[in-house]
Amino acid sequence: MIFELLKQRRRRRLRARPFPKEWLTLVQRHVVFFRKLPASDRAELLGHIQVFLAEKRFEGCGGFAITDEVCVTIAAQACLLLLHRETGYFPGLLTILVYPLTYMVQEDHQVDQHVWEEGTVSRLGETGRRMGSLVLSWGGVKHGAADPSDGKNVVLHEFAHQLDFENHAADGMPGLATREQQLAWSEVMGTEFASLRAADETGIPTLLDTYGATDPAEFFAVSVEAFFEQPRALRARHPKLYAELQKYFRQDPVEYSAEHAEW
Ligand SMILES: [Zn+2]
Repeated sequence: MIFELLKQRRRRRLRARPFPKEWLTLVQRHVVFFRKLPASDRAELLGHIQVFLAEKRFEGCGGFAITDEVCVTIAAQACLLLLHRETGYFPGLLTILVYPLTYMVQEDHQVDQHVWEEGTVSRLGETGRRMGSLVLSWGGVKHGAADPSDGKNVVLHEFAHQLDFENHAADGMPGLATREQQLAWSEVMGTEFASLRAADETGIPTLLDTYGATDPAEFFAVSVEAFFEQPRALRARHPKLYAELQKYFRQDPVEYSAEHAEW
């Protein structure tokens, strides 16, 4: 309890600290949505970034050197997921590992129903419930930040997984306060997940990345990417899914998204 109070006090102090000018320049340069946020959200985001950078450790991998540019660009996008909410700042996450470009992992993947192939695949990012860490490629981070409306953002994706883990399961459901909210969430997500799976199997084009058909956890992560990057399209084509995410995140990205207004 005392520890929790001290932590809250430390975080309040961090949020109130003046935001370094050089960092602000980096946010403005690399994070397109920042300029479109209302002033109060911008201030809140900068506060969260200060806490995030004070509490998380960054480590360069594969010869990659961590710079302020790397930390600030990742933190700014991750902290977008925290606006307007009570937050523990991704409590299970201690370290962010950053590779220069894509990195290779050993992975078995299924070729068809009975055939599994062992091999190396390239990845832009990953995280796991018991990892305490999150892996990103700097190439992927920059690419995701530079085009804020293609529905692809590896930082939003991986940090969405971290939110999912907050209720101690990788089940596509983040921490929700009441049983009622959990039921509403399960109903909407269950239906939307099933329809993405069906579309994937029949080859119908979808707004959501069909990687989300893998399982409910990936469905949530992919939905979060679409929510922030293609909110108009998502709201038009999946109104219930949009409404559920809007309730959880307590924000309406339609208001500040860089998405073209064709929807
Ligand atoms: Zn994922």
